[in-house]
Amino acid sequence: MQCKTVKKIDKLGRIVLPQEFRKELAWGKETKIAIIKKGSRIILQENNESCFLCGTEENLYQAKDRYICRDCILGIKIKKIKE
Ligand SMILES: [Zn+2]
Repeated sequence: MQCKTVKKIDKLGRIVLPQEFRKELAWGKETKIAIIKKGSRIILQENNESCFLCGTEENLYQAKDRYICRDCILGIKIKKIKE
């Protein structure tokens, strides 16, 4: 479903995201948002590009649909939990 609202950019280049949009997407004050310019459009999306183990955003590698950092890869000790 597409929702539309119109906002003016203030003198510092800011806009306020509508509360109902933030609530629906569960975006709180600590949510990191990626701002992506695609042609003449700007896309805002939750930034999920961080290590799923430690949360860093540096030296990331993709592991299926998640990200893991180099330090966590090197720190992994594999232990079989069931025979
Ligand atoms: Zn990590």
